[in-house]
Amino acid sequence: MTEKSKKHVDSCRFCWMCRHICPIGNATGLERNTARARALGLSMVNRGTFGLSEVIDNVYECACCGACTKECVTGWDPVMFVKEARLDAAMDGVLPECINVLVDNCLETGNTYGLTEVDAALAEVMGRHAEKTDVVLFLGVDATYKVPEAAVNAIKVLEKAGVSFTVLENEPASGQQLEYLISAANETKEQMNTCAEALNGFAKVVVFDPQDAKVFKREYKEWGVELKAEVVTFTTYLAELLEKGELTAVNSGKAVVYQDPFQLSRDLAEIEEPRKVISAYAVCNEMLCFGKDTMWAGNLLMKEWMPDVIARVAVDRINNAKGVGADTIVTASVSEYASLKAVEQAEVKIISLEELVLGE
Ligand code: SF4
Ligand code: SF4
Repeated sequence: MTEKSKKHVDSCRFCWMCRHICPIGNATGLERNTARARALGLSMVNRGTFGLSEVIDNVYECACCGACTKECVTGWDPVMFVKEARLDAAMDGVLPECINVLVDNCLETGNTYGLTEVDAALAEVMGRHAEKTDVVLFLGVDATYKVPEAAVNAIKVLEKAGVSFTVLENEPASGQQLEYLISAANETKEQMNTCAEALNGFAKVVVFDPQDAKVFKREYKEWGVELKAEVVTFTTYLAELLEKGELTAVNSGKAVVYQDPFQLSRDLAEIEEPRKVISAYAVCNEMLCFGKDTMWAGNLLMKEWMPDVIARVAVDRINNAKGVGADTIVTASVSEYASLKAVEQAEVKIISLEELVLGE
């Protein structure tokens, strides 16, 4: 572990001020799922009390959502040392077996799910945009393989706005899943470089999934991956299309709340753009913990090894919406959409930004 990370591990005051904000800790109610407990375990590893393998399961119980980092009263960054511990575990060969399988899948197929077949309806819609243009819509692995209806809707929204764009038939992985699983390993950077090469023939990349947008705009720069094309999030692109009048809207007057994906609101400081889009079609209200203070609503990747916890994380977020009397949550993250939709309940409707724009 770098000296900087060791300092962050040891500098945790164990003050509990970040405890209430952790979506995983809130869902499990377990002390081990707090940033504080993780720092304590890693501090003992750094002191040689026991090996990293003793706490590695716990290291993978963190969503790296950054809520604790934002909340930390002393300015320490639990996400940073979690990422370093994961890289160390990969290099030392002590990854949990379930994580090894996901990493292998990712290296073989580009996605942790090990999927290679694209849904027929999505393939048909993608085929309409195979021709090379200046703009490429980057769908991401979750939309391509797990939630194809979201990918179809994203394409339909750009078609509705009359945008001329390309969708890659064999879209390379952005590296976001490997970045989450094994951080700055050579394999992650190789995947990112391959992706950058494929995208550099375009002037603009419109990124549908906030998880991809985060790595394109942050890790690629930090790690020297040269992505020359302009990168714009799907949400910001829609806000621009509305402003230019290329996307038209009729406001239904319906009240909704917006689930900020932390990758957009916390990591990329994108707060206003999605609200501008929502406000064109509906009345955008706020629920508890929004904007930079957003509470993560679960994802598809962690569901692979913590399905029950991810289900509870989603239930908690739906309860946040109920708490302000909301009956509709609008999402801009395909994996949060899937996580929230998976909860069996009828009181709060879950819709994606694309569904809102398309009036579905
Ligand atoms: S990064 Fe998120 S999931 Fe991980 S400890 Fe902090 S608040 Fe919890
Ligand atoms: S990470 Fe920060 S806020 Fe959380 S327990 Fe440690 S010092 Fe306190």
